[in-house]
Parts: sequence; structure tokens; C-alpha cells
Amino acid sequence: MKLLVTGGAGYIGSVCTARLLAAGHEVVVLDDLSTGHADAVPEDCRFVQGDVGEAGVLLAEGFDGVLHFAAKSLVGESVQDPSKYWHGNVVTSVRLLDAMRDAGVPRLVFSSTAATYGEPDQVPIRETVPTRPTNPYGATKLAIDQAITSYAEAYGLAATSLRYFNVAGAYGRFGERHTTETHLIPLVLQVATGQREQIQIYGDDWPTEDGTCIRDYIHVLDLAEAHLLALETAVAGRHRIYNLGNGTGFSVRQVVDTCREVTGHPIPAVVAPRRAGDPAVLVASSELAQSELGWKPQRADLADIVRDAWGFTQSQFS
Ligand code: UDP
Repeated sequence: MKLLVTGGAGYIGSVCTARLLAAGHEVVVLDDLSTGHADAVPEDCRFVQGDVGEAGVLLAEGFDGVLHFAAKSLVGESVQDPSKYWHGNVVTSVRLLDAMRDAGVPRLVFSSTAATYGEPDQVPIRETVPTRPTNPYGATKLAIDQAITSYAEAYGLAATSLRYFNVAGAYGRFGERHTTETHLIPLVLQVATGQREQIQIYGDDWPTEDGTCIRDYIHVLDLAEAHLLALETAVAGRHRIYNLGNGTGFSVRQVVDTCREVTGHPIPAVVAPRRAGDPAVLVASSELAQSELGWKPQRADLADIVRDAWGFTQSQFS
């Protein structure tokens, strides 16, 4: 297929682009480099630096599908500056949807998020739980999902939203390197490389076994496979929504311990106050993705995920 990947210079977008190319697809990456890196775009694909809201000219060339990763994705920033998120995420995505409709592009795979659910009272989280986002980031992703549903029904788009839980790990030279890093595993690994003195554990008085928050960490390559399957199984006129996680939760302390084992570094940790908006436990049920897409995570072991992230971190640092 000839595919447009928005945000292909970012972490998940670059890994998925590399996997799409390996699977024999032709890929064009569109990214404004506001947070991505030009050298993260895989070789063997065309790179266009530009605004995703202006994708119409490019799409007029004729494409079989769009994978839409480009987004603003910092929860704290979305609370401080929601305008950036409603414009950057929602307005841009609706313009992309219009451009797809005008150019007759039949398939879309969209990067949605567990943040669309907020703090659900059921764990593991199924796609049927109510969507009650607790911050503008989650609200904008939910709004885009809703737009996609109506576009699929009205205009026949074959759409899939994948709701990511905690994506981690790397694929060779493609990995996580945000200028503003907020995610646990890369921050812990920064301690192991000496870029950071210690890791702060945001609260140890949560209602969990060791008192720290539990999250569902999924290997970025397993996530990439779900995108390939979503493209292959797309159904015209339907918007399918799937949660993607390992279905197993790990606590912040377990993550820090695993990073100590993998890196051989003591990684000093201190307990800090809770972070605003953090739910105690977020674990996905990916049963629907497994039964409908035929997807199954192959790299569910936390040590394997951390090992790949560590390999990438070391390659960046040395
Ligand atoms: N966390 C932490 N210290 C940090 C960064 C994150 O204790 O320096 C915790 C955070 O409170 C959450 C978990 O690690 O419980 C995962 O956070 P992350 O930001 O990686 O992902 P989120 O679940 O918020 O999307």
C-alpha cells in the first residue's frame, strides 16, 4: 500500500514507519518537526516537512491509507495551554479527515490513548467503559475519535483507533527521545546514564500492593504490529476502537527495580508527592484487539521492554 504517516519523525511514528517499510509498504512521512527529529525518519521513505493540516496537496497524489500519529501529547502542557491542544490535535485532525475524504483515501489508523477513559472504575479496562477524560489531552483525543466515527459512517472511511496504554521499548535506532521527557522508563534510564541524579517516585501511598502506581507497559514493536493488522483488516464504513496493552500491570517500584537489574546501576529513588491527575491503576484489556485483529503481544516481559529501551538510550548517549 502507499501510506502517509503523520508524525513519522516521532517515537511511535518512526518505529511504525520502519515496520511498514520492512513489510513492503511505500511510506511518505509528513511531520512539522515541532517535537520530532528529522534523523529519526527511516531511510527508504520520502520525508515531507510540513503542517498535517495542509496534507491535502500531498494526499491528492493518491494514497491507500493514512496512519495519523502527529499530536501534542503532554498532559501537563494541555492543562496549561489547552488552545495548543484543541487546535494542534482536533482542528488539524479534522482538516486531515477532510483532505482524506476529498482525495478519496480509504483507510485511517489513528493513535488514540488510554487517557480517553480518565479514571475508570473497572480494571482491566475494556473499550466499553465510559470515556471520561480528566485532562484536555485526553479530551482532544476523544473528540478526534468521535469525529472519526461520524466520518466513517457518513463517508465510508475504514478507520481504526488504537488506544495505547504505556508504550515503551525501542526498535534498533528508533526509540524515545523527547526534549521534554515525562515518561517513567526513559527518565529512570537517564539516571543510569548519569544525565539525572535520581528518580522521583510520585507517591508511595496509593491503594496498591507496594503503594506505587500501576501501569500497563507495552513494547512499541507489539504496538507497531497492531497498526499493520489494523490496515490489513480495515472495513469500509466502520470505525473500530481497540485498547492496546499487555494486560499486566507493573508498579513504579517494579519498573525501577527492573531498570536496576537490566542496567546494573543502583538508580537512586526518592519518594515525591503524588502527581496531579494520576490514577492509581491503569491496565488494559486487549481481548478485543486479540479476537478481532488477531493481535497478540510478543514482548510482554518488562525486562525485555526495558532492555530494548536501554540499548537505545546507550546508543544515544555514547
Ligand atoms: N512516574 C514517577 N516518576 C516519574 C515519572 C512517572 O513516579 O518521574 C510515575 C507516574 O506517576 C505514573 C507512572 O510512573 O504512575 C507512569 O507515568 P508516565 O508519565 O510514564 O505515563 P502515564 O501513565 O502518566 O501515561
